[in-house]
Amino acid sequence: MIVIKFGGTSVGDAQRVANAIDIVAERREKKPIVVVSALAGVTNDLVAASEAARACDIDRVNQIIAAVRQRHEDVAMRLVQQKFDFFESFIKQLDKQIDQIHTILRGIALLGEITARARDKVMAIGEKLSSVLFAYSMMMRALPGEHVDSEEVVITDARFGEANPLMDETRAAAKRVLLPLIERNLIPVIGGFIGRTRDGATTTLGRGGSDYSAAIIGAAIRADEIQIWTDVDGMMTCDPRLIPSARVVDRISYVEAAELAWFGAKVLHPRTIAPAVAQKIPVRVLNTHNIASPGTLITEEGDTRVDAGPRAVAVKRGITVVHMTSNKMLGAHGFLARLFAIFEELEISVDLITTSEVSVSVTIDEDKPQLIEHLTPVADVEIRKSQCIVAIVGRNLMRDSVIGARVFDSMRGIPMSMFSLGTSGLNLSIVVDEADADRSVRAIHAALFEAPVSVPS
Ligand code: ADP
Ligand code: ASP
Ligand code: MG
Repeated sequence: MIVIKFGGTSVGDAQRVANAIDIVAERREKKPIVVVSALAGVTNDLVAASEAARACDIDRVNQIIAAVRQRHEDVAMRLVQQKFDFFESFIKQLDKQIDQIHTILRGIALLGEITARARDKVMAIGEKLSSVLFAYSMMMRALPGEHVDSEEVVITDARFGEANPLMDETRAAAKRVLLPLIERNLIPVIGGFIGRTRDGATTTLGRGGSDYSAAIIGAAIRADEIQIWTDVDGMMTCDPRLIPSARVVDRISYVEAAELAWFGAKVLHPRTIAPAVAQKIPVRVLNTHNIASPGTLITEEGDTRVDAGPRAVAVKRGITVVHMTSNKMLGAHGFLARLFAIFEELEISVDLITTSEVSVSVTIDEDKPQLIEHLTPVADVEIRKSQCIVAIVGRNLMRDSVIGARVFDSMRGIPMSMFSLGTSGLNLSIVVDEADADRSVRAIHAALFEAPVSVPS
């Protein structure tokens, strides 16, 4: 069994859906389960519709939802229309979902506020529609696609907007629902991104979460491989939108891929790797628009060559740096515990940490206004917004200082506010002003990936 996940751009229009179906057809003997994202841009449209509803802008709501409906009808017209009963039945389901969105959006407009629960219910419609459409389109091409409701399979906690899977329940549900279909040679088609709580509320797994769904489902059924089909040739030495000459990384380990995803390589949702690691399931990143490309293989061991150099550079933007200084730190114990208790109490998660005898600096994703207020009794605080983390990831970063030397040399003239070398030697992170992000990444990419570098063994 394999899981095949298609991202939004891979199902963006009728031609792309048709290509994606060909990819499934070619892998039929591997007993695939298909996971699909919403059509490209639809989740953003649904978020915009929720915001418009909250602002009571009903015209805008109607306009956005009509366009979403039309996009799905257009794809169905191209792919399903020849079989009138399929087309009719799809349009009925489409209209039922659209009615449901309007009901929720009317509720939001009436209250003038939107709860995380309601937002998830609206956002989930994108994957509900795309997965139904994909299953119908498969049937049109004589492939036995069987739509499965994600809420029947992926069971989560109630952390709306960023739900966590409850793996025992999900495993049981996946076995009960999916395995019998596969035994009957059917191909389950399931929307990514969506789950449901034990008491039946719809949840979502965080933006970009269909990758995570694929891994959760793959782990639940112990798939042989999880394939993430996207719009680039694999995980690359950098985001090709920033560095067009970036190269594909053919092999990478789970820990390296997870670090890269966490530090901004959007090609994978940051939590995707965890379920695969638990079962040691290989994850492959492949390009729907370039099927011949071998892509990236993510495994426990990654690239086993002893002189394997760094894998890639990523950038995480919109970071805040908090510098905390206090003489009370000198020789005292318990000071760091007190500082970090404040971050815990405010539920702020910390990425990088550097310390000196009298100061601690951390990076956080979101700045909460109460933070300064809570920290000032304990330390002098300086907050720097609009920072970014540039992370160089690869397993041999510490073995020889040649990598560090090249990185710092390439950064001449660019001020940095923090740097940290993870003790695992996997991640060298540098914090710079967001305005310097692109030139920093370009300089580092040129130094590490555009000139040969190997780490002496
Ligand atoms: P999908 O809709 O298939 O989930 P995403 O847009 O979420 O696709 O992710 C693919 C995008 O990730 C690429 O188009 C690319 O711009 C971006 N990206 C960022 N970092 C990397 C990287 N290191 N390697 C490949 N792609 C990357
Ligand atoms: N459609 C969702 C999003 O845009 C999930 C995904 O595409 O992975 O965030
Ligand atoms: Mg994605």
